[in-house]
Amino acid sequence: MAIIKYRQTALSQAATVIIIWKEYPNDFTMNKSDHRAGVLYIVATPIGNLGDISARALEVLKAVSLIAAEDTRHSRKLLAHYGIGTALQAVHEHNERNVTGRLLQKLSAGADIALISDAGTPLISDPGFHLVRSARQAGIRVVPVPGPSALIAALSVAGLPTDRFVFAGFLPVKQAARRQRLQGMVTEAATLVFYESSHRIVDCLADMATCLGGEREATLARELTKTFETVLTGSLGDLLECLQADSHQQKGEFVVMVQGAPPRDPAAIDTAAEQVLAVLLSELPLKQAAALAAKITGLSKNVLYEQGLKLKDKH
Ligand code: SAM
Repeated sequence: MAIIKYRQTALSQAATVIIIWKEYPNDFTMNKSDHRAGVLYIVATPIGNLGDISARALEVLKAVSLIAAEDTRHSRKLLAHYGIGTALQAVHEHNERNVTGRLLQKLSAGADIALISDAGTPLISDPGFHLVRSARQAGIRVVPVPGPSALIAALSVAGLPTDRFVFAGFLPVKQAARRQRLQGMVTEAATLVFYESSHRIVDCLADMATCLGGEREATLARELTKTFETVLTGSLGDLLECLQADSHQQKGEFVVMVQGAPPRDPAAIDTAAEQVLAVLLSELPLKQAAALAAKITGLSKNVLYEQGLKLKDKH
């Protein structure tokens, strides 16, 4: 394990950062001389409205030696809007692994680099994971410059519980895999948050209604911070009907948020649990069968014992 202390840099307010990284090589000597490795800044940019960029983000984007951007043509528009002429380098999902080595060399040589994505916060359903992980493993300081992210913006206006949420990103493209993923979330009690594009929004809502239940409350946040910003709340079934009836509502970028599963009634035994109990009862004494069934189903042992008594009476 290595513990490395960094001095304050021009762009950072933090006086000292201590990084502990178990895999760090033992022969690291950065702080033995005056040489300072560069800093990798992870900078959030707007998700639509160009005004949604922080003063600090602009300052960092101006000051760094290089901006690593998902799509340089796209980002050039944002940078031109703010009169920023910093050099750009493309870092996207297809070349991230190849360019990481070169970026780390530049950082090690003292260059500060900013990573941005097309919109929102890099690494959130966007490239950057490999670069950030490699940089941290190499002892490079990685500094967040926080700002917009569609998932947080959407949750903040959804009116659904936000004390716990599960960010599930994009669902699989193929229907069978998508349904399987959704089935795995049926009992999740936290609010579920998904990203979706216009191509699949109707199919996704239809599969959500099928797998999670058409009556579940959900909020659809479309084109946040843009001209056609729309936030709709209703049951999954209602939202599906609404989009099917109006093709305009299918356009743009979406965050879909679905209410978590209602708390399970500890006294309720579903058919599957009853089947488990019945099988165990056919082989074991009631007390043991109830205890094992409780372990398997997560239901109360006492409730299963009572149910076991009823089953025995029936036979
Ligand atoms: N890194 C971004 C972030 O922090 O939000 C997300 C990038 S991901 C490739 C793009 C997806 O984010 C879109 O398909 C959509 O689901 C969601 N998204 C991005 N901008 C949005 C907006 N203005 N309104 C609603 N959803 C948006």
